Amino acid sequence: MDELRPTPANSSPLTPLGFLDRAATVYGDCPSVIYNDTTYTWSQTHRRCLRVACSISSLGIRRGHVVSVLSPNIPAMYELHFAVPMSGAVLNTINTRLDTRTVSLLLRHSQSKLLFVDHTLSSLVLDAVSLFPPNTPTPLLILIADDAPPASPLRSSSRFYATYDEMVQRGNPEFSWALPENEWDPMTLNYTSGTTSSPKGVVHCHRGLFVAAVNSLVDWAVPKQPVYLWTLPMFHGNGWSYPYGIAAVGGTNVCLRKFDAQVIYALIKRHAVTHMCGAPVVLNMLTSMPIYKPLENPVHILVGGAPPPASVLFQTESLGFVVTHAYGLTETAGTAVICAWKPKWNRLPATETARLKSRQGVRAVAMTRVDVVDPNTGAPVKRDGLSPGEVVLRGGCLMLGYLKDPKGTSKCMKHGWFYTGDVAVMHPDGYMEIKDRSKDVIISGGENVSSVEVESVLYAHAAVSEAAVVARPDEFWGETPCAFVSLKAEIERRPTENEIIEYCRGKLPHYMVPKTVVFKDELPKTSTGKIQKFLLREMAKALVFTRQSRM
Ligand code: ADP
Repeated sequence: MDELRPTPANSSPLTPLGFLDRAATVYGDCPSVIYNDTTYTWSQTHRRCLRVACSISSLGIRRGHVVSVLSPNIPAMYELHFAVPMSGAVLNTINTRLDTRTVSLLLRHSQSKLLFVDHTLSSLVLDAVSLFPPNTPTPLLILIADDAPPASPLRSSSRFYATYDEMVQRGNPEFSWALPENEWDPMTLNYTSGTTSSPKGVVHCHRGLFVAAVNSLVDWAVPKQPVYLWTLPMFHGNGWSYPYGIAAVGGTNVCLRKFDAQVIYALIKRHAVTHMCGAPVVLNMLTSMPIYKPLENPVHILVGGAPPPASVLFQTESLGFVVTHAYGLTETAGTAVICAWKPKWNRLPATETARLKSRQGVRAVAMTRVDVVDPNTGAPVKRDGLSPGEVVLRGGCLMLGYLKDPKGTSKCMKHGWFYTGDVAVMHPDGYMEIKDRSKDVIISGGENVSSVEVESVLYAHAAVSEAAVVARPDEFWGETPCAFVSLKAEIERRPTENEIIEYCRGKLPHYMVPKTVVFKDELPKTSTGKIQKFLLREMAKALVFTRQSRM
């Protein structure tokens, strides 16, 4: 068979963008996107995306240029997931909870050429752009006005170009979109950190996102035409690739700007929602709603982004939700490991199934291998449910690497594996369970907080001698940042806990600000002078539980 070779017929580049015109052909007159009282069909969504892609490319945006978006989960945000890469550009969605300085840093790092901005975020963007050093090119600005009054400060900026609606109107719906030349061409860029340390921009290619999107449908068993409620921010790792996955199955995307339990329950009822994703904090919202009426139909929830406690899984399922537990990272474009369900487990008591479900599970179908290894030797740990090791992954959904950071990329991509920095055990049945994180990350309400970044802000405070930030368990958020601080001897007045918190508020995005500050004469250290964070984690756990303020 040596003469058999790939031909142009069987090796055209894989890309999830092709799901859109297929959806327009198959599901053309079916709902694609619903938002308040607006409903689009797949045929309309297809044409709108082509129009926007055309308008983007008419601005001189070329292959490989970065186009950024700052927006909540509204129709424009969904459409831009197709329109931007269809113009050939790389889509960079930015976390809307970040502060001015970080947004500015990320826009500069990515050399973004064009920025789509939801009207509620206009001031954030104008302030971010004003922080660019003189003579640095700034992105052109497009205002997503939605249904807001026409006056927006963005319109008076010299960089303002048009509104999103004008981009839709001006573009040609017959635009022939830019198929990638190669399936390894970059398609998306997502930052996982970067407030004070060097930005970590995860780049995925068309092929990786194709694999991730198909993968996102298989183990969760997403059927044709689901009604998908967008409770997971699309800026989180491109909504775990569901913008593409839902197009592949011709589903309905129910969009929403902001949500709480009441909004979620109302939308589930109004649109007969069948599927939704979210971090465990979304499950907490649903179970803490006091006036709850039983669901009329089961709603499938994919939970991930942080460990969901068994008790939360149990409570959520007892309300009529069917929960599937997945584990992934921005670097895997969504689910890499999933608690694939065995029918025989259905015969077990609910508390036992919840315990089994809180384990992260086995490799998702698109992953070639997943293992838990000794980080020093690379040898797999014993399958005894006790021996800890680092989770390593290999497979088609893994990122190309970090933008402009070969050192960072080779640090986690080595010996044929992606090293996740998560600590797990492997059970005898081949299901893994995450126990801890070796990387210094706190996950609060599904948002990653780099403790190093918070520490560097604390260290810049005039009265602070030493600072270490660890996770404090929290009933609602999962974890919140807790700062341990020692003060300089020579200061005139000791700052209070509130003053330190206020100081951090001025310098960090809201969700990264420590909710607790503990003063210590000295932080515990090893003989080599390293702060012993595990001791601080224990202390944070032991702090008397007080309901911490909600963000
Ligand atoms: P995401 O958008 O999924 O939160 P991030 O890249 O922001 O992706 O965060 C990835 C990290 O979140 C993982 O390295 C891990 O520490 C944590 N995480 C994700 N899913 C789970 C899970 N199911 N259980 C425990 N931790 C998880």
